[in-house]
Amino acid sequence: MSRVFNFSAGPAMIPEAVIKKASEEMLEWNNEGMSVMEISHRGKAFMSIASKAEANLRTLMSIPDNYKVLFLQGGASQQFSAIPLNLLGDKTSADYVNTGMWSKKAIAEAKKYCTVNVVASSEDSGFTTIPDFSSWTLNPDAAYVHYTPNETIGGVEFDYIPDTGNVPLIADLSSTILSRPIDVSKFAMIYAGAQKNVGPAGLTLVIIREDLLGNASAMTPTMLNYKTHAETDSMYNTPPTYSWYLAGLVFEWLLEKGGLEGISAINKSKAEKLYAAIDKGDFYANPVEIRYRSWMNIPFTLKDASLDAEFLEQAAKKGLATLKGHRSVGGMRASIYNAMPEEGIDTLVEFMNEFAQANS
Ligand SMILES: *Cc1c(COP(=O)(O)O)cnc(C)c1O
Repeated sequence: MSRVFNFSAGPAMIPEAVIKKASEEMLEWNNEGMSVMEISHRGKAFMSIASKAEANLRTLMSIPDNYKVLFLQGGASQQFSAIPLNLLGDKTSADYVNTGMWSKKAIAEAKKYCTVNVVASSEDSGFTTIPDFSSWTLNPDAAYVHYTPNETIGGVEFDYIPDTGNVPLIADLSSTILSRPIDVSKFAMIYAGAQKNVGPAGLTLVIIREDLLGNASAMTPTMLNYKTHAETDSMYNTPPTYSWYLAGLVFEWLLEKGGLEGISAINKSKAEKLYAAIDKGDFYANPVEIRYRSWMNIPFTLKDASLDAEFLEQAAKKGLATLKGHRSVGGMRASIYNAMPEEGIDTLVEFMNEFAQANS
């Protein structure tokens, strides 16, 4: 059996070194006589796993001390409702930016709780660009501004952080967290489902400035209230212990890779190689404005869509898996998160060149 290069958007690849380490520790962790999965979340052993993971994440992202890091469940999608419930306070509206499918889902959910002002949108372009910040119509009275720095389906990524002044800025970083350094202090809150660039599904990270806690609407379910989890170190109830442990191993792996500076240099090189292969002739195409092309999710189409099935079949034979594009965009999509080795990109590029030549 051999592992393939898995280009899935999520759940996505996990570094092989991490899976190996986890498998060595699978039956018994640290002389505890049991697997991490079987250890009480209230005991010293798990507490040490949990706090080490948090400390390493804080180091990786340089998270300031006045931010809480929460290890939650429910996925990024649950945050779409938790955000308005927790952060509207006495305001009645929030500003949202619409740059693709995930923005739209966040907007649809927020509309259940407040007036949503879409202050910028790239829908007219078919979500192939990012609205220029000068065109945004921000409302000084909004409870917060929400945006999606990397749209996983369209493959568009912001190359700037908007300055929203005193209005708290919230970012859905699900598909770009940990891919490059980011100034956390520019955000009121960052959240991300783990299954793309952090670890296994089942864990959701929330990084939130402390002064935003405690203003949740009275009807907020206890489990959706950030204060509940901030006051209990994310152990109000049983947290996703195994996913938390595995995320911790990924954080250690990233530190060994030179942290976010180190991994971002590799990510940049990987993305540039793949875009160069797409742009080389007219056989492949990517519709995104070059400046806003994602480093993590790279959709591309073949000139002749009737070759799609053949492309996927031959790619699979080379160990290049899950390249089929999202149904809304068609064609292919290569998701190349931190755990995708450079060798995976090289193998894909070589295959793309061969396929183009054979079918031109
Ligand atoms: C995958 C994804 C989501 C949804 O994540 P779940 O954890 O499955 O709820 C939300 N936003 C973005 C940007 C995503 O890529």
